Amino acid sequence: MRIAATIKEARAFIAELRTERAGAESGNVVGFVPTMGYLHEGHASLLRRARQECGIVVLSIFVNPIQFGPNEDLDRYPRSEEADLALAEREGVDVVFLPSVEEMYPQERRTTVTVTGLTDVLCGASRPGHFDGVATVVSKLFHIIKPDRAFFGAKDAQQVAVLQQMVVDLNMDVEIVPCPIVREADGLALSSRNVYLSAEQRSEALVLSRSLREATARIESSTDVTPRQIVESVRQAIEVSPLAEIDYVQMLSFPALAPLKHEEDLSELRKSGASVILALAVKFGSTRLIDNAIISLK
Ligand code: AMP
Repeated sequence: MRIAATIKEARAFIAELRTERAGAESGNVVGFVPTMGYLHEGHASLLRRARQECGIVVLSIFVNPIQFGPNEDLDRYPRSEEADLALAEREGVDVVFLPSVEEMYPQERRTTVTVTGLTDVLCGASRPGHFDGVATVVSKLFHIIKPDRAFFGAKDAQQVAVLQQMVVDLNMDVEIVPCPIVREADGLALSSRNVYLSAEQRSEALVLSRSLREATARIESSTDVTPRQIVESVRQAIEVSPLAEIDYVQMLSFPALAPLKHEEDLSELRKSGASVILALAVKFGSTRLIDNAIISLK
């Protein structure tokens, strides 16, 4: 496994591997997994998928300052380079790109990638500028790594929708591959931020996955339930927890993230075989957790 601290090194390592592995099947296909580090099984699942499908696997670890708001957790975002590199090695990563902030942003930045519409809702509404930061850094990383496929978790479903829009709009020659959410055995979606939770907060946070599971079952089994009823039932379940402070619970179409008719049942959507997303963001103390379920109405 090679570790690149600079853009120049990353490009050179990847070019070398592309030449070396050109003959083998999928040999010079570059699979890319961008992360902010403090890696867990969710990240590992993306690396495994990339390893299965691509001859060259590149992981980036970069806590991207421009996607954090002024009062967010940039300064305390958890880091553990040694454990991350060990996990990367175990998962068979070929190149780890581990740039500094100065390497990624060496001069005053005057270019921003903005995806409109999809970023007005959910986390985009609660975290102004967040998706500009994400789209800008992912564009930069795509230009540096030049991946054929890039693997992203459905845990950040809005991010997947935004990046899919971006690569089509800007003709980026990369396939965005969404991968399923990895959860703890008790249902909590894995997140680097789970480390912030106290034992009590962690135990109450199980209400998130539980309420999403129950709502999914209800959508799948009853034909006359409305989006408003679903959202209300999830809200009520979460409000039982005294430690939970709801940022949003929303149900939208997916991947367009368009509003649904809240008082109407889902029969029209069922006819067209559309998908919906039920997404939530909830704070436990100062820790903001997100989770979602994407439900196909086929
Ligand atoms: P992050 O390091 O949090 O920026 O995440 C890097 C990538 O890992 C993103 O594509 C996330 O969606 C994905 N990811 C984070 N948590 C999970 C999870 N529990 N299951 C699947 N993918 C995840």
